[in-house]
Amino acid sequence: MIKCIDGTSLYKSLKLDRISTHAYLFYSDDSLLNNEVALSFAETLLCNTHTGHDNCDSCKQVESLSHPDYSLLNQDSIKVEDINKIMAKLDTKPIVSDKKVFVILNFENVNEISQNKLLKSFEEPNSSNIFILTSAHTDKILGTIMSRLTKIFVPRMSSEDKSIIAKDLLNNNIDISKYMKLDKLTDMVNFATNENYIATLNSIRSILTALNSTSDIPRLVSNLNLIDKNLFLKILQELFLDSLLDETNWKFDADLVNIVKEKFSNKVVLKCLPIIEDSYKKLISNVNFTYILDNLLFNILKEKFYANK
Ligand SMILES: [Zn+2]
Repeated sequence: MIKCIDGTSLYKSLKLDRISTHAYLFYSDDSLLNNEVALSFAETLLCNTHTGHDNCDSCKQVESLSHPDYSLLNQDSIKVEDINKIMAKLDTKPIVSDKKVFVILNFENVNEISQNKLLKSFEEPNSSNIFILTSAHTDKILGTIMSRLTKIFVPRMSSEDKSIIAKDLLNNNIDISKYMKLDKLTDMVNFATNENYIATLNSIRSILTALNSTSDIPRLVSNLNLIDKNLFLKILQELFLDSLLDETNWKFDADLVNIVKEKFSNKVVLKCLPIIEDSYKKLISNVNFTYILDNLLFNILKEKFYANK
């Protein structure tokens, strides 16, 4: 049996007992891949040893859909009754595990009424409930829900990588299909375990959504606790650049690009790019980051204000 390391690495990296995340979204335009990774993560969460896919009682029950703390919704159209069934389980205690895991695949199939029903459980999470959602169409998910999810992008392997691995495996007489699956997952983990990366994206998201007037700046700056300031500015720059393109190259978080597009016109974005570049230069020459950030946000708002006049 192939031991999938994806769910385990992700589990370890997220340190679930220490962080307050209760809802995850696995997304990319490949729904099969999203679902594969999400299901593997769910199995690891409930696994007796948290290694996942080890054939323990819990893993067997998850695979046969008989685990008492595991709920899976996987239909083309998800009905209100299905959501009601989940809602009824939210306030109960887990039966055999320390968590109850609710998986909803292809969350875009949940209609707006049902999404609104679920919103409350994302807003006031119960620490024993974990939601795992997948979607290849995140534009059909309510913004209020999106903002409460920890989003994990599931990247695909390039065809070049695939052919190298395929050759390698053929030479060693190994089942390619299994290896491909494992490698795609490993690839995902390499990306998803980067806690910094996810934290940085979340910081950018919170700043962009809350930045409306100069009076917001001190609060936003003081709440920001960045591990990697370079990464912050580089992603911001990339994000603004991508918002100018009709077909985005941004592979990691398309909804962030949409936030920029909604908030800033192309004209403002063009003015902001040199401002970000300038901030980056200041950072390299060791200027105080609070000062850099203050200036950056102030100048972005200034461009936005003048563009609207
Ligand atoms: Zn197990």
